[in-house]
Amino acid sequence: MNDTRDLTNRLAQLLRREHGALADFLVALADFDRERRWVELGHTSLFYFLHRELGLSKGAAFYRKTAAELIQRYPEVVEPLREGKLCMTSVVELAKVITPENRGEVVARFFHASKREAKAVAAELRPAEAAPHRDVVTALPLAAPVKAVTRLEMATSLAMPSAVVQPDELRGEAPASPSRPPPPAPLSAARPDEVEPLTGDLRRYHFTVSKRFLAKLAAARDALSHSHPEASTEAVLEAALDLLLAANDKKKGLVKKPRPSPARPSANPRHIPAEVKRAVWTRDGGCCRWPLASGGVCGSTTRLELDHIVPIARGGTSTVSNLRVLCDFHNQHAARQVFGEAWMDQFTSRSRSASREEGAPGSPGSP
Ligand SMILES: [Zn+2]
Repeated sequence: MNDTRDLTNRLAQLLRREHGALADFLVALADFDRERRWVELGHTSLFYFLHRELGLSKGAAFYRKTAAELIQRYPEVVEPLREGKLCMTSVVELAKVITPENRGEVVARFFHASKREAKAVAAELRPAEAAPHRDVVTALPLAAPVKAVTRLEMATSLAMPSAVVQPDELRGEAPASPSRPPPPAPLSAARPDEVEPLTGDLRRYHFTVSKRFLAKLAAARDALSHSHPEASTEAVLEAALDLLLAANDKKKGLVKKPRPSPARPSANPRHIPAEVKRAVWTRDGGCCRWPLASGGVCGSTTRLELDHIVPIARGGTSTVSNLRVLCDFHNQHAARQVFGEAWMDQFTSRSRSASREEGAPGSPGSP
C-alpha cells in the first residue's frame, strides 16, 4: 500500500510538472509570436513555425497557436493552464467565446471540462451560431463500379458563408498578414471542414453551406442537365472546380496550346510574357520558393505571385532567371527587405489593389 501511495505521489508530481512545462511553453510561445520572430526564420505564420520548425502535427500546432494567441489577449488563462484546470482542447473552445466583456466569468466555466463539455459550454454562450448546423441534405450512394470518387455530405446552415470560413491553418494554407501584427480579429468560432477517410480512395466530406450555396448548386445541376444528366453533387462541383482551375492556369500562362509570342515585345518592363510566366510556374512547381532558415522552401500554394528577384525599380527585368514564385506573404517580405519598412508601410496602409493599380516602384505587388 505504501508503495502505491508513493507511486501515486510520484505520478501527481510528474503531472504537475507537465502542466507547468506546458504553461511555460505557451507563455514563451506567446512572447515569440508577439515579436513575430517566426518571420526571421522564413515562416508565414506561427502555425507553420510550430508545424515545420518544431515538428508538431498540424492539430497540435493549431492548439498551441490558438493558446498562444489567447494568452496574448487574456493572460489570466495562464494560471489555470499551469494548475491543470484548463486543458488544450478547452482552450480552443474558450477562444471562440471569450470577449473583453465576459472574460471575468467565462474562463472558470471551462475548468476541468472534457472536450465535449467545453463544446457544450461554448454552444450555450453562442446560441445563435450553435443552431442546427449539420442537417444532411445530400448523401450520395456509392456509384458502382466504385472508382476514385469522393462521397460528399453537406450540411445547411442559417449562417452565411462568410461566417463559416474554417481555420486556414488546419488546411495547411493561407499565411498570416505579412505587414504589421494583425489587428485583434475575433478568434475563430467557425467549425472546420471535416474530411473522413472511408477507404483508400474515398473520403466523406462534411462542410457547412448557406441556402444561397444550395440554390447555386441546384442551378448548376440544371445547367449541366443536358451534358451530364443526373450528375452527382460531386460531378457538378468537380466541373465547376475544373473551370476555376482552368481559368487560373490561363492567368499563369499554363495553357495546353500556348499562343506564339508577339513579334514585338512589350515596352512595359512589368509585362511578363506568357512563355516566361509558364516557364517560371513550371520550374518552381507552382509553390512559394522562399528559403527557410532551417532548409527547404516555404512551399505554400496559396496566394502565389510572380516576384522579380531584382525589382524592376532597381533595373530588374521580366526574365525567367529574374522571376520566382512567392506567396503573398513572402513577396511582401522580400519587398520590405529591398525597399525598407518605412517605404513599404505607405503601401500596406492602403488597400493592396490600390497600390497595385498605381504600379508604384516598391509597391507590394509590383517590385
Ligand atoms: Zn511563402
